[in-house]
Amino acid sequence: MKNEQPSIIDLIVETHVGLERQGPGSPEMTIKALSFLDNLDKVSRVIDLGCGTGGQTMILAQNITGNITGVDQFSDFIDIFNDNAKKLNFQERVNGIVCSIENLSFQKEEFDIIWSEGAIDNIGFEKGLSHWNGFLKNNGYVAVTCPSWFTDERPAELEKFWTDAGSILDTIGNNISIMQKTGYNIVATFTLPDKCWTDKYFAPRDVAINAIYEKYAGNKTIEAYIKNMEYEVELYSKYKQHYGYAFYIGKKIQR
Ligand code: SAH
Repeated sequence: MKNEQPSIIDLIVETHVGLERQGPGSPEMTIKALSFLDNLDKVSRVIDLGCGTGGQTMILAQNITGNITGVDQFSDFIDIFNDNAKKLNFQERVNGIVCSIENLSFQKEEFDIIWSEGAIDNIGFEKGLSHWNGFLKNNGYVAVTCPSWFTDERPAELEKFWTDAGSILDTIGNNISIMQKTGYNIVATFTLPDKCWTDKYFAPRDVAINAIYEKYAGNKTIEAYIKNMEYEVELYSKYKQHYGYAFYIGKKIQR
């Protein structure tokens, strides 16, 4: 039945499926991260974990040769990912599959590059980096973005918001140390500018939220869901000196 009560997961998918990106980021920052990687001409296999509809994946495909596999849990995102790959004529070397990023089933040491923007905090920075390490070739690169604390102390309401959202945040310093501990040399770390949240994520998401608000007018569950997203935007504008996205680029330590 149309317009029946959707689950929160359905709502998250419905809000994000039509957006270019499902989290903060930008083509410029993806390209900046790529600029730290050597020997890109020799890259043959790339995996993009938590790829969403493939905003950043298509930027990668425009800038590197080799095959790229996108992985996401939502088939609605992967369908659009594969349509986008086709539209851009990348279908021979860019392919999206539905799979958990927590439990990958690929060959050991299969990939030259593991890319992941805005997804690792769902499973935990340490857990993700250790699990993914085994699938990377020696000297292969990992490049991930993760929401991170920029200060040592944060307002309690901010910490609570992120804990309730199920995201595990740490400071940039601790994340660097985790990256080293899980088998990588640090190549670079940089923070993403505000615009990656405000212009590139919150603004388009706001348009999608308005459409959802109208579609389910009067539905209390949906109003609460929307309020929570508005609260996220409010917290960001109030407390952005305390947190944001950082890119972490590492090179697998040779064994
Ligand atoms: N990389 C995209 C999407 C970021 S949003 C971008 O930056 O625009 C995070 C994505 O990770 C979502 O598409 C979500 O479905 C996916 N994701 C989160 N946890 C996952 C898991 N355990 N397995 C597979 N995908 C997951």
